[in-house]
Amino acid sequence: MSQRCKIVPERCIACGLCALYAPNIFDYDEDGIVLFAQEPTARQQFIIDEEQETVQTAYRKCPTRAILLEK
Ligand code: SF4
Repeated sequence: MSQRCKIVPERCIACGLCALYAPNIFDYDEDGIVLFAQEPTARQQFIIDEEQETVQTAYRKCPTRAILLEK
């Protein structure tokens, strides 16, 4: 089942964890605030099966819930 991931940059504190766990999915702007690596202006993205575990880990590790997951 494809998984939809949303990011809330307003909640991001630029801790750097999400791209550590899912470097193909997450990246940061010049202030270290989260964005999607492949689609920097998007606020949501469907996650391919191969990346679902890494994104799940990033979701769990994000200290401010700036990453949201929906089935
Ligand atoms: S883990 Fe959360 S708070 Fe940390 S950089 Fe990523 S989105 Fe921002």
